[in-house]
Amino acid sequence: MNKKTILQIAIDGPAGAGKSSVARAVAQRLGILYLDTGAMYRALTWQALQKNVDFADTDALTHLAWETSVTFDMDTHRVLCDNTDVTEAIRTPRVSEHVSAVAAVPGVRARLTELQRNVASEHPIVLDGRDIGSSVLPQAPVKIFLTADLHQRAQRRQKDLNEQGLTTTLNQVAQDIAVRDEKDSSRATAPLTQAADAVLIDTSDLTLSEVVEEVLALVRRVAP
Ligand code: C5P
Repeated sequence: MNKKTILQIAIDGPAGAGKSSVARAVAQRLGILYLDTGAMYRALTWQALQKNVDFADTDALTHLAWETSVTFDMDTHRVLCDNTDVTEAIRTPRVSEHVSAVAAVPGVRARLTELQRNVASEHPIVLDGRDIGSSVLPQAPVKIFLTADLHQRAQRRQKDLNEQGLTTTLNQVAQDIAVRDEKDSSRATAPLTQAADAVLIDTSDLTLSEVVEEVLALVRRVAP
C-alpha cells in the first residue's frame, strides 16, 4: 500500500456473520475508527417509522435521507439520529423488517455512500456493511467477506435479541435473516456481494479472536 494512502478496511457479508464484532475489535486493536454502515441504514429506517413515511415511496425516502442527520459518537459508539440517541431503538425486529426496503432505494444509497466515503477519505478506518468492498470503497487495500452457515448466524442473532429482552424461536430468526439476505442480494443498486478481490473468511467454526487475528494478519501484509 502507498504510505500516503489512508488505511481502509472493508468488511462485508450477510446478516449475523459477526461483521460488527470483528470490525470493532480490529479497529480497537489498530487504534483507528470503526463505522457501522448498517446502523446508518437502520437509523434512517427508524426515522421513516417515526414519521410514518410510506416504504414504497422512494422519493420520500430519498428526501428523508438528505434531511436526516445520522452521526456516531466514536468513543461511546452511540448512534444519533437528528440528535436522538437511537442506539438500542435501531436494533428492534421492526426496524430489521423494513431496513432492506429503505436500503434498496438508490437515492438513499447515494446519500449514505457519500457520507461513508467522506469519513473514509479523512481517517484510517474499518467499515462494515454489504457493499463496502464492491461499491463504496472499491480501492480499499483490505477487503474481507465474512460468512457463516445460516444456523450459526441465526444463533448469534438470537443471542443479540435475547440480550435485548426479546424472545423468539431459532427458526423464526433464521427465516428473518434469510429473507433479509435475499432482499439485500437481489436489489439492483449495490447489492450484497463479495468483491472479486475480497478475502473470504467463514466464521462458522472460528472464535471472534481467531477471526480478528486473521484480519490483522491480512492488514499487516498490505500495510506492514
Ligand atoms: O449490518 P446490519 O444487519 O445492521 O444492516 C442492516 C441492513 O442495512 C442490511 O440488511 C441492509 O439492508 C442494509 N445495509 C446495506 N448496505 C450496507 C450496510 C447495511 O444495504 N453497507
